[in-house]
Amino acid sequence: MSLTLSKKSEQVKPSSTLAITAKAKEMKSQGIDVVGFGAGEPDFNTPQNICDAAIKAIGDGFTKYTPASGTNELKEAVCKKFKEFNGLDYAPNQIVISNGGKHSLTNVFDALLNPGDEVIIPAPYWLSYPEMVKLSDGVPVFITGNKEQNYKVSAAQIEAAVTDKTKALVLNTPSNPTGMVYTREELEAIAEVAVRKDFYVVADEMYEHLIYGDDKHVSIASLNEEIYKRTITCSGLSKSYSMTGWRVGYTGASVEITKRMSAMQSHATSNPNSIAQKAALEALVGPQDAIATMRKEFDARRKYSFERVRNMPHVDCIEPKGAFYVFVDVSKVQDMKYKGEKVESAAKMADILLNEFNVAVIPCADFGFADHIRLSYAISMEQIEKGLNRIEDFLNTLE
Ligand code: GLU
Repeated sequence: MSLTLSKKSEQVKPSSTLAITAKAKEMKSQGIDVVGFGAGEPDFNTPQNICDAAIKAIGDGFTKYTPASGTNELKEAVCKKFKEFNGLDYAPNQIVISNGGKHSLTNVFDALLNPGDEVIIPAPYWLSYPEMVKLSDGVPVFITGNKEQNYKVSAAQIEAAVTDKTKALVLNTPSNPTGMVYTREELEAIAEVAVRKDFYVVADEMYEHLIYGDDKHVSIASLNEEIYKRTITCSGLSKSYSMTGWRVGYTGASVEITKRMSAMQSHATSNPNSIAQKAALEALVGPQDAIATMRKEFDARRKYSFERVRNMPHVDCIEPKGAFYVFVDVSKVQDMKYKGEKVESAAKMADILLNEFNVAVIPCADFGFADHIRLSYAISMEQIEKGLNRIEDFLNTLE
């Protein structure tokens, strides 16, 4: 037997959002004044009542194994939130608490996919979906929501991509990286296709609390009984409660899918951190005003960022409605010259911005849109202003 490694691990790319963010943090630690529009991570402290619940959990000795799929009290709190916020009826035996949203999604794909099963992923997509699908032996099938359609895909596009191997559709609303939000009518049309063609919908609703203006979050599973049966609703605490490091995600699904996910999780990780579960419980049942406070601040940052970017030369963007990203079309920049050399790609633009202007942005080839970059406005207004000034300086030098 030779010392070879798995083919599966060979084809997985490391997460570039995390890699760029790590590089920016490393530059900061060297004393470089970097502005980080990289990873989508709220800059707010986790609300104090949530931290206090975790400290109390430690004091109370709540530091041992819990049931592998999460404590019953937390599952009940998740059910209540699903009912009240999403209009969804899930019982505790339909809930799995996992180690963050990514873990929930990998559990879902592991539960659903057999080798060769196809998963339709609308582009632009969050970069981890295709890698997760491949890790679960599935085949990502991409369809494109272009700028003219607000980066959203239609039910007709989804239907055209369906084959006899289609197992699931990934639906992310509000969307990372575009900030777009699917309307009820759009979701109804998609649900109709999913039911008629009989495939699952993996609904990633991680940014459900972060919608600005008049749009409303609609959970596709809430539309009717048939789509409810086929949907795995995924969410988590990271973005809404500024709890990225605590790693708590959860899913609502059929009892059958939930059992499979719980069994796999019991072998892979056992329970999510017991202390983080107590913190998550407090987040869900305690005062909710922190969500509104953070949303208000994000909204101010969104408006400012959008207004600034849309008025910059050589780039274009449409108004984001949710999440905390501005998705910027830099296709014209690629054809221009910086210091006499063609910029060529969004990736090269991101390199120039980081190395010469000390601004970290995410080039979006790994999100299925090679001529776009993503800016996360989950940083302070002061940082946003400074970072956008630097991007504008860069754009003004282009010929
Ligand atoms: N989901 C966030 C982002 O897209 C965090 C980093 C990651 O997990 O990719 O920036």
